[in-house]
Amino acid sequence: MQALNSAIIRSLTFSNDQIGFSAGWDGGAFGTDTRIYHGEPEARRRQVNHRLSGAWRELSYNPETMQSAFLDAELRTQFRRKLLRWFEREKRSLPWRGESDPYRILVSEIMLQQTRVAVVTERYKKFLRQFPTVSRLARASESSVLAAWSGLGYYRRARNLHTAAKHIHPNSGFPSSAAELAQLPGIGRYTAAAVASIAFCEPVAVVDGNVKRVIQRLTGKQVRDDACWKLAQELLEARRPGDFNQAMMELGATICLPGMPVCGRCPVAGLCQFRGAEGRSIFVPQARAPAPQRKKGILRYLLARRNGSVLLRERSADASLMPGMWELPPLERHDLNKRRPILRLRHSITTTDYSVLIFEGGARNSRAVWTPLRAVNRLPLTGLARKALHRLQLL
Ligand code: SF4
Repeated sequence: MQALNSAIIRSLTFSNDQIGFSAGWDGGAFGTDTRIYHGEPEARRRQVNHRLSGAWRELSYNPETMQSAFLDAELRTQFRRKLLRWFEREKRSLPWRGESDPYRILVSEIMLQQTRVAVVTERYKKFLRQFPTVSRLARASESSVLAAWSGLGYYRRARNLHTAAKHIHPNSGFPSSAAELAQLPGIGRYTAAAVASIAFCEPVAVVDGNVKRVIQRLTGKQVRDDACWKLAQELLEARRPGDFNQAMMELGATICLPGMPVCGRCPVAGLCQFRGAEGRSIFVPQARAPAPQRKKGILRYLLARRNGSVLLRERSADASLMPGMWELPPLERHDLNKRRPILRLRHSITTTDYSVLIFEGGARNSRAVWTPLRAVNRLPLTGLARKALHRLQLL
């Protein structure tokens, strides 16, 4: 592995509104770049000075990866200080903020994967009221864990969390390093680093979609995942790793947004290569993979009621989607017998948009069971069954 080499800025060219440079190391050129600057001459001069006196004065590149150690030590210190001050001032008040219990942090991190903060907030509190400790979760039945997860979707996360809880032996304590946490089933690099840094102050950086976007914009480059992890680790404030990681994610979630970043409110704008519209010329977003084509389908279900109970069916344990979850009994078209639906709704599952029709009728599905309505909430219902029963005002 070659050491980092300092690059030499070989040439600088100025015109009314732009500056170009070429630079290289060991006698070879590795790149040229041209930046557009806006505003009055004095404003442009300040922008150019900023580039040359800061991150651009001592460019260091790793010739193997072509990645820039984009901030020198002094600027990294500035970055950490500005970011952490902003985070202390502006962080959103969320139920898991300031939490130091690793189990509670793990629950929040897993719930937040693929689910919006607004949805998670209430569900997180409810889940922890039902399973306040990792041992209570480990002792619970899978069905009760899935029921508590109902409505959050991606039930594999609930199953993994439950399995991980069973692996955490009460006598040996909660795994306290990212390496140990990553051994738990279903816990990936990001989750392990988040829990280790927030709960145990281990100086490990996290990279999720938000952090990756922030790093790409800070560097003004498309940065591969492995290089992103390295850069995040370089930037990390090792004395406050949990706060720093949360601050990076908060910046990406609230200021450095996926569409148009709000650079005017960004605490580290002075250290950023992208910095809003003026930096667009140096950031070429990767072509997005074409969105998968959405399909359409029709689903028909039976609503059968009797003495305060409703007929429900458990999906088979080897179903590819939502195994072991409960739903209204499905109907085939030939079962309809000219009946008209009592409810129509729309529901999307993965890449298919369904028109859902609910028909009222008598029991005819031998695998279905009569379930008292007051007990329905304790079952792991599919999102669609929950939605239909809500619309029918039965939940
Ligand atoms: S200045 Fe803008 S682009 Fe750069 S990190 Fe801040 S919000 Fe993101």
